[in-house]
Amino acid sequence: MSEKNLPLSNEQLHKLVDDLPTPFYLYDEKAILENARHFKDLFSWAPGFCNYYAVKACPNPTILSLLEKEGFGSDCSSLPELLLSKASGITGERIMFTSNDTPLEEFAEAYKQGAIINLDDISHIESLEKAIGTVPSLICFRYNPGPERTGNAIIGNPVEAKYGVTSEQIIDCYRIMKEKGVKRFGLHTMVASNELDGTYIVETARMLFELCVRIQKEAGVRIEFIDMGGGIGIPYRPEQNAMDLEAVSKGMQELYNQIIVPAGLDPLKIVFECGRVITGPYGYLVSKVLHVSHKYKHYVGIDASMADLMRPALYGAYHHITVVDKQNQSFDHTYDVTGSLCENNDKFAVDRMLPKIEKDDVLVLHDAGAHGHSMGFNYNAKLRAAEYLLKSDGSVVKIRRAQTYDDYVSTLRFEGAPVQI
Ligand SMILES: *Cc1c(COP(=O)(O)O)cnc(C)c1O
Repeated sequence: MSEKNLPLSNEQLHKLVDDLPTPFYLYDEKAILENARHFKDLFSWAPGFCNYYAVKACPNPTILSLLEKEGFGSDCSSLPELLLSKASGITGERIMFTSNDTPLEEFAEAYKQGAIINLDDISHIESLEKAIGTVPSLICFRYNPGPERTGNAIIGNPVEAKYGVTSEQIIDCYRIMKEKGVKRFGLHTMVASNELDGTYIVETARMLFELCVRIQKEAGVRIEFIDMGGGIGIPYRPEQNAMDLEAVSKGMQELYNQIIVPAGLDPLKIVFECGRVITGPYGYLVSKVLHVSHKYKHYVGIDASMADLMRPALYGAYHHITVVDKQNQSFDHTYDVTGSLCENNDKFAVDRMLPKIEKDDVLVLHDAGAHGHSMGFNYNAKLRAAEYLLKSDGSVVKIRRAQTYDDYVSTLRFEGAPVQI
């Protein structure tokens, strides 16, 4: 079971909703910080432990620099994410550049920033050299185990996944880079997304530990760090349980002692790139009911849409909904909770049991602190929502203003700008 509480009292939330245009995102600083510290403490046995927070989960510099102060790095896969990291005070090897299908100018910027470059493909060795005119002193490769592992629902079967170097190619990758003069090496994988079963993560560690031994034997390369990727899930549904991270840490430590220590590969640094499990449960999308209508089904239309939070429409994902003031009423009404896009899949919930809902009720969507605002878009010319941070001292600050019509049209050229051809 996971509890779905609000970070503020009903009265405080009403006050906020009276003062601020809805919908908006609200992040809970204290909870994020406590969670980040807890995550770090869980792996305090692991040499050089670091979580490179996946920027895509919540690309707001206020959040990124909060995590930076806790010793987190950032995991980037685009040029703007590299620039956002820089703007958040995250520099050098605290940045992991785990891109795929990478434009050459992004390799160049990652190299310029001194980021760790994590290559997705054996052919990217050549692309990287072309982009930066040399090889970096430290390189990492993303490994895809293919048929040796089964995948999970969101990321899919590794054989069908577009990411990473195959089992056959991986030794050559390190051999080639060693010959080119690279001195330091990392090994990365990511074979799960939103996974709640901890044994999956432990098995991934086993796979990487064993691969480190194989790389040492077959390529004569000693791996300096393994990067376990992200993919640790969160209990979106109240009846789900969070992953037992203590057991994961313990399981990984046992395997480290069984595989890495006897092979003479200790110390081997261990890092993650988790986004969701770090901030996911501590972000909320706050919205107001515009209409309640009764057609062939009962609909609650809110002022947020899938342009604000796409996960339900994209993956059929569950996001828990709290109706403010009605937490203790009986959940005896069945509704589809919708947004206003001209798209019938613009629904936050289908056939959800909720208390009786009225116009102007405040609905809070839970677990929107990762892959929430960042997945938003402008379809139907919907403008992007503001983001607020509930600070540890109880104050609320704006950390991103809402998009305006002027922002939205700022890239347009109404006269048509001539293009040289
Ligand atoms: C998306 C992604 C992550 C973060 O995933 P979470 O589910 O947020 O933990 C980390 N690394 C890579 C390469 C990713 O694509």
